[in-house]
Amino acid sequence: MTNKNKEALELEQLFQNNRRWAESMLAEDKNFFAKLAAQQSPEYLWIGCSDSRVPANEIVDLLPGELFVHRNIANVVAHSDLNCLSVLQFAIDVLKVKHVIVCGHYGCSGVHAAMTGRRVGLADNWLRHVQDVHQKHGRYMRETLPTQAQHDRLCELNVIEQVANVCRTTIVQDAWERGQDVTIHGWIYGLKDGLLSDLNVTIDCLDSADEKLKHSFARYEQSE
Ligand code: ZN
Repeated sequence: MTNKNKEALELEQLFQNNRRWAESMLAEDKNFFAKLAAQQSPEYLWIGCSDSRVPANEIVDLLPGELFVHRNIANVVAHSDLNCLSVLQFAIDVLKVKHVIVCGHYGCSGVHAAMTGRRVGLADNWLRHVQDVHQKHGRYMRETLPTQAQHDRLCELNVIEQVANVCRTTIVQDAWERGQDVTIHGWIYGLKDGLLSDLNVTIDCLDSADEKLKHSFARYEQSE
């Protein structure tokens, strides 16, 4: 069999998987897709890493229609990224999601490349955002910490910094200003055990944002 034929068969497998999945969904609820086609009303926006090992819906066991998702390398929220901002704006202003979850993960290759300065190509420019986090919070990355612990810590610090970036958008600030109920969360996922942890940087109004962020970073000041 030629490589081309092999690839075509592998892709055909995806269509077969899809048909089987759609049938199983209909077996549970024959109106499932008809209802979804009419409207979506997710309560959550997930901002996560593109890493194939961190599939948003599966991790939190939510069905199609229940999670609005934006993913990029290293779950970055950059104020110049129209893609991310548009997703955030649509989620908050139109879908009226109640929760925005920034979810990073341990073992993130993007964060690792940013930490070590390893060149990966065009994405180096994107990962500059994570290098900025590294530089800004470098004092929490003590040299006495084992490399693995430093990597884990930067994954966490990156989540907290991106939560701060979400809070600083005009989209979230305007929503809070008009009294809309929207809470921002920072979570991290463990590739090794499949479990989520809350980084306790939950922010639901402008007044408490700075204090909460300061407190979140201060934890690293004290911990070894
Ligand atoms: Zn990642």
